[in-house]
Amino acid sequence: DLLVVGSANADLVIGVERRPGAGETVLGTDLAVHPGGKGANQAVAAARLGARTALLARVGDDDYGRLLLDSQRAAGVDTVGVLVGGAPTGVALITVDPSGDNSIVVSPGANGRLAPGDVRAAASLFHASRVVSTQLEVPLETVVEVVRSLAPGSRFVLNPSPPLPLPREVLDACDPLIVNEHEAKVILGDACVSDRPEDWARILLAKGPRSVVVTLGAEGALVASGAEVSRVPSVKVDAVDTTGAGDAFTAALAWRLGTGASLAQAAAYAARVGAAAVTRAGAQASYPTAAEVDAL
Ligand code: ADP
Repeated sequence: DLLVVGSANADLVIGVERRPGAGETVLGTDLAVHPGGKGANQAVAAARLGARTALLARVGDDDYGRLLLDSQRAAGVDTVGVLVGGAPTGVALITVDPSGDNSIVVSPGANGRLAPGDVRAAASLFHASRVVSTQLEVPLETVVEVVRSLAPGSRFVLNPSPPLPLPREVLDACDPLIVNEHEAKVILGDACVSDRPEDWARILLAKGPRSVVVTLGAEGALVASGAEVSRVPSVKVDAVDTTGAGDAFTAALAWRLGTGASLAQAAAYAARVGAAAVTRAGAQASYPTAAEVDAL
């Protein structure tokens, strides 16, 4: 089974002609509210593919929290680990201008209250999980506690988003660490001396992870472990909206690893899932079933 530990946000989206400056008010389109957050997205993506999936997260005791719980349940995610209360549900206030550029303000809310003690209290979920997948939209000390709570033989997958310098204990546990180009550059910092993603993967591997995956958008991805770095071919599709593609990729990869696939096999499947996700609008609304991936 797959356990996702991470964030759940309500995405509040308004289209605007231009963004307001300080002290200014602009009028926008009708409000659209979508379930989001990297943890919630990953859990929905995996469950829609057919993975037995549980989510450990925290939402507020409010309408947005109920929206998020409903979307998880509709996808078939086990929500016994979704804790309620402590702060309002996390929200992302998103304005989109006519060129498609986003400006986003995130209030972490309840995501920021997902505590190490919540992880310790979820021991039974950890024992039932072969793979545990996490991101960084919850406190870093909570992610450290996830690493310490892994059941023997289970695998830890981390997408360090938003990127932060990571403690060695977390880096060492990653199998794989999954980064896009921006995340790779932030984690590498001064060590980012090359333009070649193959070099980023090698330098990231030297920082401790057992394996590394670099996602490259329409260019596909590459996987690295031991001394080997290999390309994962991309799938040619007409991209409509890339929102949430990385979350779908990570969820699919984590699920396939749990079924015994090699890293290269799992990444090739994940690239198909990511490609399918960009052919439709939205994040969770764009995620494919296994049959849709096979038909691609
Ligand atoms: P993120 O959303 O985290 O920035 P990427 O944009 O790298 O991540 O996308 C994740 C994966 O989704 C890619 O590795 C690729 O397999 C797939 N993908 C993303 N964009 C496209 C695209 N335009 N065409 C085909 N596949 C894509």
